[in-house]
Amino acid sequence: MNSSRRSFLKTATLIAGAAAVPVTFMSREAFAAKVAKASMQYQDTPKGTAECSTCMQYVPGKSASANGTCKVVEGSISPKGWCLAYTAKS
Ligand code: SF4
Repeated sequence: MNSSRRSFLKTATLIAGAAAVPVTFMSREAFAAKVAKASMQYQDTPKGTAECSTCMQYVPGKSASANGTCKVVEGSISPKGWCLAYTAKS
């Protein structure tokens, strides 16, 4: 199983758990919809050494300190943030 498939499955499982929806009923299209920050326990601060800037789901903003976006969580995302779907870049 390649890394992006593993990441997809890990994130899908986390989202399914957060939404109490069995992952087997989620299509890729349903997965493409972003989830609310609260559902993923998003916070604007790191969790230990884990932060959005080192997460493979993070899409950087215009500078290293500017907010970016996330492939999973909706809204503006701090590079110093964190959520349950954190997946370290390999
Ligand atoms: S930690 Fe969560 S909010 Fe931050 S980039 Fe990763 S998946 Fe998105």
